[in-house]
Amino acid sequence: MSDLTENQTKLSVFDHPRLSEYDRLVYPVVSRRAGGLSLGINLNPEKSCSYNCVYCQVDRTIKIEHLKLDLEQILSELDYWLKIIQKEGGRFQDQELKDISIAGDGEPTLKKILPNLIIRLIKKKEEYGLRNVKLILFTNGTNLTRPDLLDTFDSFTRNNGEIWFKLDSWDEAGYQKINRSSTPYAKLISNLVLVGNRYPVVLQSCFFSTNNQKVTPSGFQGYVQLINRLMGDGVKIKQIQVYTTARKPAESFVTPLSDVEMDDLHGYLSQRIDCEIMTTYAGGKKSS
Ligand code: SF4
Repeated sequence: MSDLTENQTKLSVFDHPRLSEYDRLVYPVVSRRAGGLSLGINLNPEKSCSYNCVYCQVDRTIKIEHLKLDLEQILSELDYWLKIIQKEGGRFQDQELKDISIAGDGEPTLKKILPNLIIRLIKKKEEYGLRNVKLILFTNGTNLTRPDLLDTFDSFTRNNGEIWFKLDSWDEAGYQKINRSSTPYAKLISNLVLVGNRYPVVLQSCFFSTNNQKVTPSGFQGYVQLINRLMGDGVKIKQIQVYTTARKPAESFVTPLSDVEMDDLHGYLSQRIDCEIMTTYAGGKKSS
């Protein structure tokens, strides 16, 4: 495999491009989210997703025809990067690898190879002595309870694996407005309840404005009720990550919340929900 250019590897937290700009299945990113170096795995190079979020930042007008999903190719790219990262005096010598993330330009749980990939990633962590490096599965949850995937979660979570579950709306109407999916909202919630009762989950919620209309926290009462209901139903929520849009969204009416709106929302949610709320502002600043 050929090397990436300096521009593609020397990314700063202020220069974090879209995944679609890469033409690899595995890519290094210095990210705000990880607080350091992360290796991302793109399981959706053809950009397939079970959602069609109004705020999606994946540019589906650009196709990377030569990039095909292949488990052995992913593992070979992973080896390539792990060797570079662990090389003494190498270009990543000052960066600690924080996580390996299964994400990309679509929904990873749609992919048949995902359970096998998880098993092989656990082995790779052992092989490279990466006990403290997290494995993160980013998902919108629509296909999270498929039996062959569920079977891997005991081992995944025992090996520092975390499920990061997208949850942007609190009813079917909001869900269809924001995420525009053919998966019923009730199915999504039942998936969350099933998995969240077994393993702690991180929730990721993207909130935004429509054409810069002012947003007030009282509009999020339904979200608070939903989260409290989920917790009452036994869902173990490790953290809620609230964020707003930072890059060009799919629909132009989607506009980011201001820092003041995010501050107000953070205060409102923190007072009403009994778990850690981590808020990321449009410019990348995080709540303390
Ligand atoms: S789930 Fe993610 S990739 Fe899919 S449409 Fe929504 S933001 Fe885009």
